[in-house]
Amino acid sequence: VELLFLGTSSGTPTASRNVSGLALIDTQSRAWFLIDCGEGTQHRLLKTRLSTHHLAAIFITHVHGDHCYGLPGLLASAGMNGRTAPLTLVAPRGISDWLAATLQFTQLHLPFAINYVAAEGLTNFACGAFEVDAVALSHRVPSFAYAFTEIATATVLDTEKLLAQGIAKGPLWGQIKRGYDGVYKGTLVRAADFLLPPGPARKIVVGGDNDTPNLLAQACQQCQVLVHEATYTRSVAEKIGKHLGHSYAAQVAEFAEAAGVAHLVLTHFSPRYQNNPQLRPSIQDIYAEAAAFFSGHLVLAEDFMQYRLTQKGDFIRVIAG
Ligand SMILES: [Zn+2]
Repeated sequence: VELLFLGTSSGTPTASRNVSGLALIDTQSRAWFLIDCGEGTQHRLLKTRLSTHHLAAIFITHVHGDHCYGLPGLLASAGMNGRTAPLTLVAPRGISDWLAATLQFTQLHLPFAINYVAAEGLTNFACGAFEVDAVALSHRVPSFAYAFTEIATATVLDTEKLLAQGIAKGPLWGQIKRGYDGVYKGTLVRAADFLLPPGPARKIVVGGDNDTPNLLAQACQQCQVLVHEATYTRSVAEKIGKHLGHSYAAQVAEFAEAAGVAHLVLTHFSPRYQNNPQLRPSIQDIYAEAAAFFSGHLVLAEDFMQYRLTQKGDFIRVIAG
């Protein structure tokens, strides 16, 4: 499973960060899911290897424009590029009416069906290799997190044991991996003896805009990766006031620490935070504030940054592509 960040700025884009968009890629099947689709997301996709042909579903966290204004354009292009397979769109109430009106008033006739699924109350929704649950968050409008839990985890071939018993690499390995017994140099080889049990199901929680990280306490049980907004640092959040419904770095970090999250990815940064650490305020301030409260693996998202969550639960940066 891989995460590819397409937009990591809050509210407005900057020269280096677009508004919200995140691809969750099932590297086995090549199917991928898009979580939020801010304006310009389709331009971001053009710089990756992802195509809307393999896009299995779109999840929108809430109705604010920086999370959904890219939808009509992305859907129109998918149609013009020949997509005919139905597309699942999981979104809170309001998105389907807005989109229907846009399609109607702009005379956009998509050559594929959109299957709307309400985010409200979504539990155990089967979506490719994952089961998805929506968690209601706290923001100015209804906002949701999506928890992706892997359904079936593949069994792993015990190659060390095979080699130790003198069974050389060959077609038999594939046969055993698929669960079939075989014969090697006249001796029966039982698949069950060379298959390691599947690892724990991988689980990734992706939050929408939210001022109360604690609402994710249950969803974060057994999750390896939490992607959450940290729009501000504490001092800026206190100056602005609570009414915007966002979190600050320390708040999210403290929650993730208490929840035992292994890998925390912060994103959705206010454009005031500069990439240049010499300038104030800088994105470095967000990192420093979170790191003071979180002892796990802390990552600050950047556009086009790509990470892989391995079967073993390691979360490693990969070259984008
Ligand atoms: Zn936002």
